[in-house]
This record gives sequence, structure tokens and C-alpha cells, in this order.
Amino acid sequence: MIKLKGFTSNIVHHDRQQSYNDSPIHTPIYNSVPYGYKSTKDLENVFQGKTVGHSYARQATPTTDSLQSMITQTELGVGSLVFATGMAALSATFLTLLKSGDHLIASRFLFGNSYSLITTLENFGIEVTLVDATNVENVIAAKQDNTLMVFVETLANPGTQIADLAAIGDWCEQQGVVYFVDNTMTSPYLFQPIRVKASLVMNSLSKYFCGHGTVLGGAVTETGMYDWTDYPNIFDAYRKGDKSKWALTQIKKKALRDMGGSLSSDGAYQIAVGAETMALRMDRACANALALAQLLEAHDKVDTVYYPGLPSHPQHDRATHWFKLYGTILSFDLKAGYDCAQLLDSIDIIINATHLGDNRTLALPMASTIFYEMGPENRAKSGISEQMIRCSIGIEDTDDLLESFQHGLDELS
Ligand SMILES: *Cc1c(COP(=O)(O)O)cnc(C)c1O
Repeated sequence: MIKLKGFTSNIVHHDRQQSYNDSPIHTPIYNSVPYGYKSTKDLENVFQGKTVGHSYARQATPTTDSLQSMITQTELGVGSLVFATGMAALSATFLTLLKSGDHLIASRFLFGNSYSLITTLENFGIEVTLVDATNVENVIAAKQDNTLMVFVETLANPGTQIADLAAIGDWCEQQGVVYFVDNTMTSPYLFQPIRVKASLVMNSLSKYFCGHGTVLGGAVTETGMYDWTDYPNIFDAYRKGDKSKWALTQIKKKALRDMGGSLSSDGAYQIAVGAETMALRMDRACANALALAQLLEAHDKVDTVYYPGLPSHPQHDRATHWFKLYGTILSFDLKAGYDCAQLLDSIDIIINATHLGDNRTLALPMASTIFYEMGPENRAKSGISEQMIRCSIGIEDTDDLLESFQHGLDELS
């Protein structure tokens, strides 16, 4: 393996084979479900974990393996697993590492479906406390004797709150609590949660990794920072080998194999190709987002702008310290009396769609869509104003983006 310093250099050279003589530069799409062996003994050895090999595509294929190792490299981890969606990766992790009677501390500022998933965990007897994770003191105050895990997002959507990442990491390490970080909105290009001692890192591959809005995928990466020896929920069968990978083995067996939210080789291939330009896309989209945030903040029809690149953002300094750039998600509250839908319809460049991390600029009002089911009371608690619009900024040319927003806002009455 050649060793390169840069993020993109490592991704584009990731699939490089030992020899270039007639071998594919991309790991091919292996669409076979079963994998055959010359002798029964060979197959037995694979089943018993004595030799490394594939048996059935629900657990792994050479194509998903290749994507996994690329993700591990970008997150500086010790191993990764890929799933059919980001939600599959999250549910796999929660359901295999927590059980009835355990306590989870989670950020109050979560992706809407993650919030919904966490309320489901409560039905299975897992206690959950939601806290304002922008300040470690709130996490500390929520600690119980049965607390096993803290879950936060790096950069929350839609409010762009930034968790107290480093302080929570220090506290989790000191308490022996698992620190699970959703890195989707920053991606390993902007931030690697291992730097704040995360135990496990999740990425929705549907966002910046794939980048083109053409495939769903999710990943969990084990950073190697957590020693699982005393963690109560690791099954005996997986308490062997490298201790820093026990959780990953358990998630692979109990979630990927038993629950089956597996990524197809077709999907893995598309994500791997998309990831080659992740840094290039993000450089452009983050620059666009910053320029647009400045335009919006200066406009008299706009109330609050939520973008960590603005000095007015409550965690601007934290973002500047930890993140390479400020991200592509930008939200704003339209002043009371103006209609969000009317504005969105008059900004030509916007596509009315949910989703984040696309090459195109997408936007939607929050209270009437993603957070509709939550109701006004919980929306207020989660920092979702009734006039909030969320944008996922794309890679369009900056002038087109700025002109289109300026025109839409000026027209608004
Ligand atoms: C999109 C997203 C998810 C879920 O990922 P899917 O691939 O859509 O299932 C989880 N967390 C965050 C922060 C996301 O943005």
C-alpha cells in the first residue's frame, strides 16, 4: 500500500492493486450472493473465522469490503461496516450495543429520523435522556449509574448546533462511557471524530460520500479508542481477538448478519466512485454556503441565520477550531409575516426537496415537513422555529446562487 498524506490522494489511490498489469483500477461490482470454495474444509474455516473469506453477501462482498476499508482510512479508524442506509447503521449500533435497562444520553439536536429512532428505543426499555449537547455540563448532569453511551451529531441539522465535542470526549473517556458520534454533516473531510476520542463514528453515505443523490448507504467506524473488556453487552462469542474491535464484530454478526440491513455491491461501488470527489465538492459547496450566509444575514427580511461560519453563530469558535470548513447546511428564519413557501417557490435555483449533501441546492421549510410529526411544543424544545427554512447548498456557481436568492428575497412581500 502506498502512503500518501492528503485526504483525496488517499481516496483515489485506495483501490490500487499490487500490480497494474491488467487489473481493474476500481474494485469491481461483485453481484454474487454466495461464495464457493474448492474444499469443504476451506468453507468451514471461513465459517469458523479461521481464514478470512466471504460466504454470503448479506455480511460482506469484496466490493463492500473495499468501501469499508476506504471509509476506515478516511476516519483514521480500525475498521468499518457499511449498511443499506444511514438509519440502518444507527439502528444496528443502538440495538446491538444497548439493551433493556441501559441508559443512553443523546443530543437534543438530532436529525429528525434519529430522534424518531431514539423514541423507539424507549419502547424496548432503553432509557434515554435528551440534552443540549452544546455544553458538556448538560451531559454530565444526565449521567446515571446505568449510562452506557453518549450519542451526538457533530454539526446538527437544521439548527447547525455544534456539540461540545472535545469536552464530551474527555468526559466519556474518564467515565468509561461509549462515545458515539454521527459525523454525517461534517464528513471525515471536515472533521474526524477520533480527534475528540469518539469510540464509534457513523456516516450516512447517502450524503457527502456519494454526493450525487443517487444511492443510499451508511457506515459505522470503530476508532479503536474504546476498550470493550468491561462493556457489559458484548456477547461471549465476540470477546476474543483485538479488544478494540469487539463492538464491530458484534455489530457485524448481530446487525448485518441477523437484521440484514446490508448495502448492495452496486450501491457500494457508486459510493466509492462518488467519494473520490468529496473534498472537491465540499470545498465548493462550503464556500457557496458561507457567501450565501453572509448575504442572508445582511437581508432585512431574514431574522436569524444559522451557519457556523458566521461570527454571530454561538459555536463559531468551536467550528473554527475543529472543522476544516463550516459545512454546506445553512438554515434561516424568515421574519414573521413572510411566507416560507412563497419565498422558496420564487428562488429559481432551489429544488424543493429534502436530503443533504447533494450537488444541487435543495431547500424546504422545516415545521411543515420533516418536523411536522413532532408538533409545535417539541419543535420549540429542539430549536426548530416555525419560520425556519433549511438549505443544503450545492456546487452551483456562486454568482448564480447568490443572484437567485437575492432576487427571491427582494420579490417577497
Ligand atoms: C441523512 C442522515 C442520517 C440518515 O441517513 P440515511 O442514509 O438517509 O438513512 C443520519 N444522520 C444524519 C445527521 C443525517 O443527515
